[in-house]
Amino acid sequence: MSAPRILIIEDEPDLLRGLALNLKAEGYGVLTASRGDAGIEQALRDRPELVLLDIMLPGMNGLDVCRELRRKGFEAPIIMLTAKAEEVDRVVGLEIGADDYVTKPFGIRELLARIRARLRRHVPTAAGLRLGPVEIDFDKHEATRGGQRIELTGKEFDVLRLLARHRGEIVTRDRLLEEVWGYEAYPTTRTVDNHILRLRQKLEEDPSNPRYILSIYGEGYKLV
Ligand code: CA
Repeated sequence: MSAPRILIIEDEPDLLRGLALNLKAEGYGVLTASRGDAGIEQALRDRPELVLLDIMLPGMNGLDVCRELRRKGFEAPIIMLTAKAEEVDRVVGLEIGADDYVTKPFGIRELLARIRARLRRHVPTAAGLRLGPVEIDFDKHEATRGGQRIELTGKEFDVLRLLARHRGEIVTRDRLLEEVWGYEAYPTTRTVDNHILRLRQKLEEDPSNPRYILSIYGEGYKLV
């Protein structure tokens, strides 16, 4: 397997050079961009395995770069390089689709640890699911939003897994009952609806106006 490639989008030349040297020394392939708009092009063209993304950038700021990459279906982990605490609030609060962040000035060892963790965790197969900023790992029973853990119950995972397996198709309440609850005592379609409600509250940006877990009136639910 070839070394993972990391795209660094950073406009401070010294920091960019230092990061590139350190990452190469660790055996990573390194790509660089010093503008936001150029970074998007490069990410979509070269498909790096991970992106380090500064926030204050010429061309387009890092928050918009991150949103745009996610909107275009770019799924690799993105770690934001933030300059100050107020930027952290925006990264975490705005649900821009980033996986993690480090605050400048950061130690290279801390950054390398974050990179390794992200590369390890990113599973681009059916074992994982990404819904905007939310990442779900079915094998490990872990759900995170921007690096923050979301607590899901076992049943909630099972419901989500069934919907994910049939992504884009309608899954009826009866089928959910049968496959998730089986012959457990007295579950009803109301049970299914309650679980869907809770999943939306945990995963959707606007639970009352869901983007991912849709109700198909009179039929069931669909994950899109
Ligand atoms: Ca900058």
